Amino acid sequence: MDDRDGVIWFNGQLVPWREAKVHVLVHSLHYGNAVFEGARIYNGKVFKLTEHSQRLHRSARMLAYEVPYSVEELDAATRRVVAENRLQAGYVRPLAWRGAETIGVSAVGTKVHTMIAAFPWGAYYEQKAIRLMTARWKRPSPESAPAGSKAAGLYIICTLAKDEALAAGFQDALMLDYKGRLSEATGANLFLVINGELHTPTPETILNGITRQTVMDLARRRGLKVVEREMWPEELARASEVFLTGTAVEVQPVAAVDQHEYPIGPITQMLQEDYAALVRA
Ligand code: PMP
Repeated sequence: MDDRDGVIWFNGQLVPWREAKVHVLVHSLHYGNAVFEGARIYNGKVFKLTEHSQRLHRSARMLAYEVPYSVEELDAATRRVVAENRLQAGYVRPLAWRGAETIGVSAVGTKVHTMIAAFPWGAYYEQKAIRLMTARWKRPSPESAPAGSKAAGLYIICTLAKDEALAAGFQDALMLDYKGRLSEATGANLFLVINGELHTPTPETILNGITRQTVMDLARRRGLKVVEREMWPEELARASEVFLTGTAVEVQPVAAVDQHEYPIGPITQMLQEDYAALVRA
């Protein structure tokens, strides 16, 4: 990813892609307290750009720091990066991190740095419907980690879970939380269709995805009942359809979770089409 043409917005300046570098002693590299975003570009525009910039701010606040650029400044910088890199479609990756001013666990006294990169990125999975493996790694309790923050450090669980699932021949992992409840995939939220209704875990131990909220809205507009509640793995046997939502994965049908198999059902297909129409509108 580091050896390509293009520009990256780096602390207020556009810098050549290959020169957007940091020192090996940056605090966030050692302690995981960077926060990041992922947004998609459709027809040259970033879908829900302001929501993503706002979440970057909220994520940093949950880790007790401030992104040094306002939401408006981040929005403008993102538009500039997308235009300068001539992207009609693709992905935006903003990141805020704490600098190399100190090496101790305390981040007091470090400077907060910000970058925004944008690049082409097609479908997240090769498969039309994916197979998930339940991970042995659990989402931590809200008393152990700020689950609502899109914080780099929280992704060690996701990377471990995903790579174990890939090694076992699955496309992704489904994570349970510290109580053993259904939570989310490693980069996407989970929905089950049960008796024609949409059921999804409450956001206590997950990232409350922007796509998740968008798809719940689309479902309600279609007259579907949407239920956010505590959910358990036994319910996977009762679901008629399962899908994931996320900026990168969009609305992604799930063909199987462990031994449970699912068709690409009518509700998943309808929401997939509604989402595709909305992002391109
Ligand atoms: N959960 C996790 C762990 C994620 O990384 C993502 C992707 N940001 C999501 C859920 C979905 O969030 P969104 O719809 O905002 O992309």
